[in-house]
Amino acid sequence: MKSITELYRIGRGPSSSHTMGPSKAAMLFKEAMPIADEYKAVLYGSLALTGKGHQTDKAIIEALGKNCKVEFNTEEQNLKHPNTFRLYAYKDGKEVLEWEVLSVGGGAIQIVGQPVTESEEVYRLNTFDEIKAYCYENDMTLSEYVYSVEPFIKPYLKRVWKAMCDAITRGVKASGVLDGGLEVARKARRFFLEQKSDELSETKESRLICAYAFAVAEENADGKVIVTAPTCGSCGVVPSVLKYMQERHGYSEEKILDALAVAGLIGNIIKQNASISGAECGCQAEIGSACSMAAAGVAQLMDMGIEQIEYAAEVGMEHHLGLTCDPVCGLVQIPCIERNAVAAMMAMTAVNFANFLTVTRKVSFDTIVKTMYETGKDLPSGYRETSTGGLAKNYKGKKNSP
Ligand code: SF4
Repeated sequence: MKSITELYRIGRGPSSSHTMGPSKAAMLFKEAMPIADEYKAVLYGSLALTGKGHQTDKAIIEALGKNCKVEFNTEEQNLKHPNTFRLYAYKDGKEVLEWEVLSVGGGAIQIVGQPVTESEEVYRLNTFDEIKAYCYENDMTLSEYVYSVEPFIKPYLKRVWKAMCDAITRGVKASGVLDGGLEVARKARRFFLEQKSDELSETKESRLICAYAFAVAEENADGKVIVTAPTCGSCGVVPSVLKYMQERHGYSEEKILDALAVAGLIGNIIKQNASISGAECGCQAEIGSACSMAAAGVAQLMDMGIEQIEYAAEVGMEHHLGLTCDPVCGLVQIPCIERNAVAAMMAMTAVNFANFLTVTRKVSFDTIVKTMYETGKDLPSGYRETSTGGLAKNYKGKKNSP
């Protein structure tokens, strides 16, 4: 597996696979052929169908400049990945470079025909069972295992935590309607103000967690800086529960970094053995993965054992199996924003289960990851970030011109 720094990427929303990945590829492409005077990008598959709403064209033009035109090809079916695009560079009207690029999820890219240069494989062990056995043999916790493989990761995790908290702080203060034409109002502030006057501890907890999850997801939808955890669309789940737990119980920053390390390890295992891409495996791969990560992170904060952390992560994914990706009008707003808050609450429930039901569990984390992948591959393409099925197809609400 690769470094956890490849999973938590700090950058602008609204989509890791549709904006961060293409933007990065376009910047590398420009560096590879700086003498070009014109560029063209052709988007295929999910990128062609939802690229407008996800602002893929804007991200590529920002990277390549005004002399770049973007085409959307919804006809081509024979693709290496649902998020495929081609970049062309021209000099004096002649093509001088062509790249085929796959945006494989979480902001990661693969340039077809070129060795993957993103980062090395730093984790020798790839499954939860292997890692668990190693931790038992060496008498270490999961966070200690992460630090043993990545001894210099803590400063990066500190930056991640700061970016997460900054997104929460901005998001709970912001108001107004998000761009895109769906007239989706920001709601984080409302949740935040409601919980202040709330005396009931159970509704106060849920409102505060929801306020934080909405805050980050709304910042993402607005194209502001967030952290992929594991993707942009699912970026509100992990920060909301960790922030709530820190405020409620006074956990130190060191403990939060340990929780981020463990949550990152869980996300990495899913990325390695299945997918974190909505275009590849539906929303279960994004929001389901975020819920698993958040549950594992909170369980780590509460000093639960490895079996309990595994159970929390497994429950977080199990009850998202089959979850479709059907963003209305290709925008990362409906159902994406609310879904972050719902998954955050489910992560808290998963930790609650893990607290006392771990001895009764029947399903391992590795099994649920395999199941998620197979389920995702069986989902028809209308439910994998193409905005041609599900809620995207049936939504009859207002859509103004953006
Ligand atoms: S529905 Fe889920 S997977 Fe699809 S764009 Fe929204 S958050 Fe991402």
